[in-house]
Amino acid sequence: MEFPIFKTKIEGLDKKFDLISPEGRQEYFEAKAGKEIRELREYLEDNSFIAYLLGKKSSGKGTYAKMFDEIVAPDKIEHFSIGDMIRKIDQEMADKKEREKLFEFLRNNYRGRMPVDEVIHSLENRSTKTLLPTELILTLIKREISKLEKKTLFVDGFPRGLDQIDFSLFFRDLIGYRDDRDVFVLIDVPEKVIDERIKWRRVCPACQTSRNLKLLPTSKIGYDAGGKEFNLICDNPKCQEAVMVLKEGDKMGIEPIRDRLERDEELIKQALGLYGIPKVMLRNSIPVDVARDVVDDYEITPEYFYERDEKTGKIEIKERPWVVKDDRGVPSYSLMPPPVVVSMIKQLDEVFNL
Ligand SMILES: [Zn+2]
Repeated sequence: MEFPIFKTKIEGLDKKFDLISPEGRQEYFEAKAGKEIRELREYLEDNSFIAYLLGKKSSGKGTYAKMFDEIVAPDKIEHFSIGDMIRKIDQEMADKKEREKLFEFLRNNYRGRMPVDEVIHSLENRSTKTLLPTELILTLIKREISKLEKKTLFVDGFPRGLDQIDFSLFFRDLIGYRDDRDVFVLIDVPEKVIDERIKWRRVCPACQTSRNLKLLPTSKIGYDAGGKEFNLICDNPKCQEAVMVLKEGDKMGIEPIRDRLERDEELIKQALGLYGIPKVMLRNSIPVDVARDVVDDYEITPEYFYERDEKTGKIEIKERPWVVKDDRGVPSYSLMPPPVVVSMIKQLDEVFNL
């Protein structure tokens, strides 16, 4: 699986933009994709579309989609996560009255291979590991979407299994979005990037915010003299300088989710092979040896490291280019989210012939 490289460098545009602050990002997007953003905004005045986000677990689906709507049209886009929907249904199941209403809806609306009572039984007795039958998922999606005002949808978590790929071809008809354009947004992130995102993740024990010691530090860094380790101090004033911690399961990186990653990869391959539905391909990494020609330096994710003055105890945050091997073993840089979103904006603009 190799996605095309997208060039975000514009000859003659030498300004260095700040991609961290919302204001800096606004300026950056205006300079790099202003025309396409205006065309998409105009399109969304009278139209909506459905985008299926497909990427491996922790590939940044949510980050890219949220940044897209922050920049293009915050009030016209709805994020629809199947995972969130299932969690909400678990809450309904815990309440007797809500549960009865849900079952009533299923008795009236479910269509599929299993008798409805069996479906209800599987919902009541499922473990978090088992996937729910596709026909049930579709019925539940329809119920959720009918509660929303019609907007552009970013769908996360569907299709999930290989059997759901075919359903995705007719999804817009199933949910009553018949005349909408639909598009797959496929995301390619090297496993090594996902691995480091997990291994260096640190979580605040008080507010649960998560950051990354290597890729996304807080503004204040601490030092544990016993373990000779640097650590992140939560930026949230309410947390009173809580030290962010490594969660036990994160130590192993992608090892525990290897099966899941393989399933996700197979799903992306299948989606790539479908005809008649356009695809936007987002690439998180680019080979080091072509980087100079296709991206600007500030679009590359740096790696942070720390130096401590033995005498004063003062800690300095430093950064250097971060090189990772992609899934083919090619030394690569990982891109910051904004350039990936620029490529998403430009590709969508083209898919919709704007
Ligand atoms: Zn906190």
